Parts: sequence; structure tokens; C-alpha cells
Amino acid sequence: MNDNPNLLPVMEEHYGRMRNYVGGEFVDSSSTRTQDVVDPTTAKVIAEVPLATRAEVEEAVTAADEAFEEWRETPPNIRVQPLFRLKRLIEQNYDEIARVLVQEHGKVIDEARGSVRRTIDNIEFACGIPSLLMGEFLEDGAASGIDEEAIRQPLGVFAAVVPFNFPAMVPFWFWPSAVACGNTFIVKPSEQVPVSQNRIFGLIEEAGFPDGVVNMVNGDKEVVDALIADPRVQGISFVGSTKVARYIYENGAAAGKRIQCQGAAKNFLTVMPDANLDGCLPNMISSFFGNTGQRCLAGAVLVPVGERADEVVEKFVAAAKRIRVGNGLDETVQMGPVAARRHYDRILSFIEKGVSEGAKLLLDGRDCKVEGYPDGFFVGPTIFDNVTPEMTIAREEIFGPVVAIIRAGTLDEAIEVTNSSTYGNASSIYTTSGKAARKFKYRVRAGNIGINIGVPAPMAYFNFGGYKDSFFGDLHGQGKDGINFFTERKVVITRWL
Ligand code: NAD
Repeated sequence: MNDNPNLLPVMEEHYGRMRNYVGGEFVDSSSTRTQDVVDPTTAKVIAEVPLATRAEVEEAVTAADEAFEEWRETPPNIRVQPLFRLKRLIEQNYDEIARVLVQEHGKVIDEARGSVRRTIDNIEFACGIPSLLMGEFLEDGAASGIDEEAIRQPLGVFAAVVPFNFPAMVPFWFWPSAVACGNTFIVKPSEQVPVSQNRIFGLIEEAGFPDGVVNMVNGDKEVVDALIADPRVQGISFVGSTKVARYIYENGAAAGKRIQCQGAAKNFLTVMPDANLDGCLPNMISSFFGNTGQRCLAGAVLVPVGERADEVVEKFVAAAKRIRVGNGLDETVQMGPVAARRHYDRILSFIEKGVSEGAKLLLDGRDCKVEGYPDGFFVGPTIFDNVTPEMTIAREEIFGPVVAIIRAGTLDEAIEVTNSSTYGNASSIYTTSGKAARKFKYRVRAGNIGINIGVPAPMAYFNFGGYKDSFFGDLHGQGKDGINFFTERKVVITRWL
């Protein structure tokens, strides 16, 4: 396998024990609880992550809290200078970070590169914070001789708790904006994939933020509970499963914190009979199988409408069969393994459930073998036809390369089945009809809509969040909502006598 000319070399065979980053330096955790980090392509252990203790979280909060007063008084244009430096550093280390991502997560190299690009986009957005933080002022706004103004102020320490599927990017949806607004921050990476974030924190150190402004604590539920319990933590941004989203939303809000929680998804993609099928097919395939289906914006249910349904299904299955599954470090591979053994087992159990509930298995990815990687967690593209909305595979998030097809007679039926989902993260329509697209856009209850776009991922300057069980809170992530989440608004009325 090593003579494959398309195979990029791994960055390191083993990354050692991950460290926390607190008060401007890397520190070893004293925790005795640890977890292995496993490369899903080879099933080899590539790192060890200590799961921090409550006391270690408190130390990180103390560091962030102590840094806050000076940082909030640093002018916004000065606060963004380390972000400009970090952007350059990440650009210089772009491909290395992407390769670490492939190793710890299994995604293919192009997807990894794309997610690093999105990481940088979020830094760029935060670099523009001086304009975004400006308040409003109205001369004689309250009465003659009495001016009124609205200003924004930072609140203190914020934290982000993030999922396994985009290990480098997701923390950047939050912390650059929070820090540019004048807050200080603690990142808790996913304990399953902490390596790229540890590497990025090396660049954060080099970028020269004042000590304590950005911190990282590795760990699991114990870290999260300690963040919720600490009254100095003003707010938590969460991305992950709905079960944990609900838990953090309820407990964090009860503790008086600002909370924004992005949860799970089950995204329905409608294909109208008038769609430019051949033109849209690669985009549809990428939606369902990109990142091995482990995207909160991935297609999960395909809803072909009307008389062309058979043709849609036939072409979709044929295209899925052509997907090249393998090691994501091979530039020619289109789909890597799923990220962990437990995800692999879970996905297989969903496939079994689909079969037992009577759906028609058109393409079975269970016995997916990749030469040279006998232990990898590979699941091939899997497609079920004749799925009904009540079936488990139509309702629950699978988070893998498994497609449920629910046929609909009309656009109204497609919208109805889409809206029957308890989730509402994203939904897409493929059509050449503006009228159909318009109806879909307004009637579908989801936070992100794609029109001939299967992964409607908002850019850093747009808000990002779902509806229903896909989001808990008020202000979404990114964009102007992010600025509102990370600032307290205050009105000042002034009279000079
Ligand atoms: P997860 O909920 O298991 O874990 C997310 C984070 O929560 C991790 O950092 C983990 O350490 C922590 N955590 C886990 N269990 C906890 C508990 N009981 N108490 C407190 N904290 C806990 O999610 P995951 O498996 O890492 O990620 C996949 C999920 O993320 C999918 O459901 C996917 O849809 C979702 N996701 C959503 C979005 C979005 O924008 N809506 C984006 C990416 C991923």
C-alpha cells in the first residue's frame, strides 16, 4: 500500500499524550482517566487524551477570568491582531492540519482541506469585529439636550463544547468572535478527535494572545458539568447530539448562563420531476455521502417526487456504486471510514433495523472491504427504497452513509413528509421551477435551505442554526447572532447640565 503514488504520508505515527492549554501555556493533565485516540482507517492508536478533572476546569476558568479585565479594555482593533496572525499561521500549516484531520477522523483529504478553509473564514469574520461591535447613537434621542446611545459590552468567560465530526472547524464558529468581542474563552474539543485542535493551539500560542484569553481543556462530561457549575462561566456554545444539547441547554440555562446548542439532524432532500438531474446528481451524492454522511447538513432522506422517481432512484444508486471508498489520505478516494468503532456498530444496527422493518435494501454497504486496511471502520454507500415516514431509518439520525428513500406524489406531500421530522436543521430541493423552490423555501421548517444545493452550509458571516430538535436556545451561531450572543447590550441616556 505504501507504493501508492496518490497516498499522502501521515504526519506522525503517534502524537503522544494530549495537553491542555491554560493561562498561555501547555500543561499536562494530572487526570488518571484517559482515552485512546484511534485512526479509523487503520484502527491503530495515534494518541492518548487525558480527561480533565473538575479542579483543572476551575484552573482554566480562573485563568480566563483573570485575563478578562485587561482584555476587555484592549481596543478592538488591537484585540484582532493575534487573530490576523493566527489566520496566516493556519494558512501556512493548512495541509498539515488537514492531514492530521484525516488521520484522527477518517474524512478524505479534500474535505479536510475544505474544513480548514472554513476555519479560516471564521477568523476572517472575527477580524472585522470593530465595525460589528459599533453601537448606535441619537443626538437628542431622549429629549432636547438628552442624548441616547446603545452600546455593546463583553461579558466574561465563555466556553464551547464541540462534536467529533469537524474537529478543527467547529470551535472557530464561536471563539474568534467571542474573543474579538472582548471575552475570554475555553474550548473543550471532542475527546474522540483532539489531535488537530491540540496542534492548532500550538499556532494559537505562536499568534501571541495574552495569557488566559484562549484556553483548551480536554475531557468529557466531567469537564462540561464543571463548566456548567462554575458561576464565572457566562455562556456555553454547544454543537453535538440532541440528547446532550438538551442537557446542556436545560442545566446551563438553569444556572443562569447564556446557552446556544446546535443538535442533531435528519435532512430531507426533495427531487422534483423537472430537476436537472444529471447536473445535480454529483451534488446530491456529495450531500449524502460526503464526510461519510457524518455532517449535520448531510442529506439523510431522499424524496423523489412524481413520475421521474424511478429514474432518480436508478441514477442515484448507480452514482453511489461508483464512489471510491478507502484511506482519506489517498487523493483519489471519495469516501473514508466512519470515525469510530462505536459509530460503525451503530450504523450497522440501523441498517439491520431498516431491513427488519421492511424497507427495500437497494445498496448494502455492510460488507465493505478496503484493500490494505482490514481493520478500518468502513461502511459503503447504503440505500433503502420504499421507506415510510414511521420507520426508524426515516426518523432517527444515523450519521453515516445510509440513505432512506421516501417517494412522494406531489411537492405538497414532499413538504409534509419533510416537516414531519422532529429535526429541522437543513433541507434541500432540486428543481428548475422557481415557483416550486419558492414554496419549498417558505414552507419547510428548517434553519438552512438549499435550492439545488445539497449542503446549505452558511458562511461565517451568516447565522447558523436549526429548528425544532436541531437547536436549543435563541441566538444561533456565527454571524450577527454570534455577536449578540457574545455581547451584553446597554442603553445610556446622557444629559449635561
Ligand atoms: P455528542 O453529543 O456525543 O458530543 C458532543 C460533545 O459533548 C463532546 O465534546 C462530548 O465530550 C460532550 N458530551 C458527550 N456526552 C456528554 C454528556 N452526557 N454530558 C455532557 N457533555 C457530553 O456528539 P458527537 O457524537 O460528538 O457529534 C455528532 C452529533 O453532532 C450529531 O448528532 C450531529 O448531528 C451533531 N452536529 C450538529 C451540528 C449542527 O450544526 N447542528 C454540527 C455538527 C454536528
